[in-house]
Amino acid sequence: MPETAPTVGFVSLGCPKALTDSELILTQLAAEGYRTSKTYEGADLVIVNTCGFIDAAVQESLDTIGEALAANGKVIVTGCLGAKPATDGGEGAGTLVQQVHPKVLAVTGPHATQEVMDAVHRHVPKPHDPFVDLVPAAGIKLTPRHYAYLKISEGCNHRCTFCIIPSMRGDLVSRPMGDVLGEARALFESGVKELLVVSQDTSAYGVDLKYRTGFWDGKPVKTRLFELCEQLGDLAEAHGAWVRLHYVYPYPHVDEILPLMASGRILPYLDVPFQHAHPDVLRRMKRPASGERNLERLQRWREICPQIVVRSTFIAGFPGETEAEFEHLLDFLREARIDRAGCFAYSPVEGATANDLPGALPAEEREARRVRFMAVAEEVSAAKLQQRIGAEMQVLVDSAPALGRRGGVGRSYADAPEIDGTVRLLPPEKASKTLKVGEFTRARIVAAEGHDLVGVPF
Ligand code: SF4
Repeated sequence: MPETAPTVGFVSLGCPKALTDSELILTQLAAEGYRTSKTYEGADLVIVNTCGFIDAAVQESLDTIGEALAANGKVIVTGCLGAKPATDGGEGAGTLVQQVHPKVLAVTGPHATQEVMDAVHRHVPKPHDPFVDLVPAAGIKLTPRHYAYLKISEGCNHRCTFCIIPSMRGDLVSRPMGDVLGEARALFESGVKELLVVSQDTSAYGVDLKYRTGFWDGKPVKTRLFELCEQLGDLAEAHGAWVRLHYVYPYPHVDEILPLMASGRILPYLDVPFQHAHPDVLRRMKRPASGERNLERLQRWREICPQIVVRSTFIAGFPGETEAEFEHLLDFLREARIDRAGCFAYSPVEGATANDLPGALPAEEREARRVRFMAVAEEVSAAKLQQRIGAEMQVLVDSAPALGRRGGVGRSYADAPEIDGTVRLLPPEKASKTLKVGEFTRARIVAAEGHDLVGVPF
């Protein structure tokens, strides 16, 4: 890229869905010949991709915009926070971002690559010679080279009362099967060894398209989660890679995927955001699949695929949650033996309808319940990790200084990056064995430490 090409600074905040939006914008910037900069000072303008999910994330996003304005002066804002209206109300009041930072050049909502690019073109004209050939087929990735997120849809048809995502991202729009699989293949061909499938509601893939038949490699393929998993499993197998599913709601049709997990075509790992277990709380939350018998479903999954690892997130202290409802949640956690459970104390996100429900709990009580929840979650998780001692596991290496001769850090199928534990790798058994980032090794598990395992590569 020539030294004279205009330079755009980029800050990416928020969840993996926001990260994939950042990747699309960075890919487009690179395709058009812009350089990118990690500092505010060296850039001709700065793009901030924001998060608007909980109040702490809103504050972090607003602070980052303020910093970028102070250091650079030319700032374009995109992402979930960009879709939030101003609090001073009224038609034409603009967005919250403009209210707090009136000097920003432009504001867009999430998933708005073209609008962001239009704003960039207005303020820093496009270089004359596009460097399309210099952009890797897999696009620009913000993750390490060996793993990548694959977004299969945008938006959500549900209206959970604690969530404002549908008001920011709209209803479900599934990407065509051919596009999704084309991107997956390009990622595997570029060296990705672990593909993380993300969306707001992965089980609902294709519902908006009435599961229409798409095309992939000249063959008809239904736009549906099962068919997507089959095809991804084949692609991953051909490249010796992993496929991991996130944000899967426990609808009955998810059972169909379990045999693909049992046979190793996709990882036996399911990230299922249960959020609660008591039917009345789930109803107040308006959760998808709230009528499902989740304990029975988990049992059936384990019968089909005994090695399955289940990760989930929960909310403690939802408005109106009684002590008995909370105890019910703790019992569920013990009985369901969720391998990896995270918990948020209920946070009254501005604009969420749950804030109008009666029975709001004081912040200290919400936090106290979160702490009680995590104590049980850790007990369950620690007991499960202890059972792994003595096992041999496939580990994807994330870090291996000095070729791993003094050890390194990796993850097994049970650990998604960033959110789960790791496998701390001791120096390999044989002095001649080396470890490389982005490659797999076998390891014998010798200990468990908190959320992590310790293994000896062999
Ligand atoms: S399923 Fe519920 S929590 Fe998830 S994005 Fe949709 S409305 Fe929000």
